[in-house]
Amino acid sequence: MQLAGTQSELSSGEWTSVFQQAGQLGMLHAHFTGGEPLARMDLTELVSAARTAGLYTNLITSGVGLNDQRLAALMGAGLDHIQISFQDSREEAANWIAGAKAHAHKIELSQAIRKYKVAFTVNLVVHRQNLDHLEEMIAFIETLNPDRVEIAHAQYYGWALANRAALMPTREQVEKGVAIVAEAEKRLAGRMRIDAVIPDYYAKYPKACMGGWGQRLMLINPSGKVLPCHAAEVLPQMSFENVRDRPLQWIWEESESFQRFRGESWMAEPCRSCDHRAEDFGGCRCQAFLLSGEAEATDPACSLAPKHSVIESALRESNAGTSVKQGTGGSSFVQLQQQSAALWTYRTNPE
Ligand code: SF4
Repeated sequence: MQLAGTQSELSSGEWTSVFQQAGQLGMLHAHFTGGEPLARMDLTELVSAARTAGLYTNLITSGVGLNDQRLAALMGAGLDHIQISFQDSREEAANWIAGAKAHAHKIELSQAIRKYKVAFTVNLVVHRQNLDHLEEMIAFIETLNPDRVEIAHAQYYGWALANRAALMPTREQVEKGVAIVAEAEKRLAGRMRIDAVIPDYYAKYPKACMGGWGQRLMLINPSGKVLPCHAAEVLPQMSFENVRDRPLQWIWEESESFQRFRGESWMAEPCRSCDHRAEDFGGCRCQAFLLSGEAEATDPACSLAPKHSVIESALRESNAGTSVKQGTGGSSFVQLQQQSAALWTYRTNPE
């Protein structure tokens, strides 16, 4: 997915109207996510508007662009929760995978956040390149003292799908990771909550993506387009409404895009008659399309899916140990950046 240019973005006033409509609709949370929400210079104003509309506010950020002054302003606006993503515990490796020297700043920022009464989550993105030192990464996160840590395996959409061979862990890495997380959950119970999900390529059944299409979430992009999830624009022959043209309530209740995969009537076999259909909703529509070419198909991550062979073949490649050169955390940042050119496919910036 390419980024949208800034010219088409909703104004502060338009966002305020969206928050008011969301509050009236009975929505509970406003998650400011990205891209990078700090790129909006009026973010404090937007948080305040969402709070006034009765929404619980959550800032999901890399932390890049957040200084003490701006943090204080966001807290003054009533921000309820902040989530900072970390790429690694080792500075060189973290900067390498982020493509920016941001790790030290994130540590300082985490210390500053703890001076406020705000809920604090650390998001740790794990994958083939860093899972081998998961214990060390959890110990590092403990020093940041968050309320909660989210150990999130990379999800293979967009640019992560283009870079899947470099990101996909081996089965051995996944199994060791599960045991390490279980031990940490026990040790840290009552002090720090851990939420972790194994990559769905290794699961028997797919994830209940977004809690079901059009069931819980509206994703409003910077230019006002309303989507049932972050990736939904990959689906062909679908158009999505814009808050500039339609009220939020109409989009939620009546738009074709939100109706399209809501409920069970769109399902084909084997999902239509499967006992799991009320739990996983047939998996993820975007992943089904990206891996099988059909948005209505059973998510290939499901072991019962007719197209499950595409997952098996990706796993075979990943576990053969030939598809990727491991990045080395001990090398210099410059060396690692040079390795990156060979390892990754990069997103292009908007014009
Ligand atoms: S067949 Fe469909 S409903 Fe059944 S487990 Fe697989 S994805 Fe879920």
